[in-house]
Amino acid sequence: MVSLQEPNVIFSGETCPACGKPTLSQIYIVHVDKITGDETFLFTTSCSTCYFKKASILPLMAGKESGATRNVLHVEELADLDSKIYRAPSATVEVPELGMKVEPSGAGEIFVTNVEGMLSRFKERLEFILKTHQAELSAMKRAGETLDEIDSCLTGKKSFHVILEDPEGFSYILPTRKSSLEKTSITTGETTGKGSDETNS
Ligand SMILES: [Zn+2]
Repeated sequence: MVSLQEPNVIFSGETCPACGKPTLSQIYIVHVDKITGDETFLFTTSCSTCYFKKASILPLMAGKESGATRNVLHVEELADLDSKIYRAPSATVEVPELGMKVEPSGAGEIFVTNVEGMLSRFKERLEFILKTHQAELSAMKRAGETLDEIDSCLTGKKSFHVILEDPEGFSYILPTRKSSLEKTSITTGETTGKGSDETNS
């Protein structure tokens, strides 16, 4: 017992990660369970050249607002590391204290994780880059300092913010403590531009 709406196009003509042709598109539909009333976004990213296809599901937050949203999570206690992040492909996630930023991706990856999981993933990537890339000494030193800072964040010694901005309004944060989250609607076109301190893209 489900009802499916007409597909909505999020993007088309993007570069396909599999074949490199500009024929990647992404659509979503809203799936409503008629018994429970639960709503879910079903995203499908597909390429018309090589038939690359990827589907992902994002549970819809009750009372979702339409339009662009900005969520700012204040991580001040260990419990806040358990706050859940639902990030749609259209969103940007940022931890300004760590110079960490994840931009919207053409491959249309969704992640559902908690703050701790997100930091651990970032740490792993940074360690991998340090291991496999020869960098200048100053860059290596900076990366090492960032790793120390991530550890301070993961052990609750350092407070930080997680900023989640979504021009489509799909993404959201479920905070452990209600008071730790600021949620605002933003006008399209006013989202944060590309940061120069970007370390993750
Ligand atoms: Zn392709």
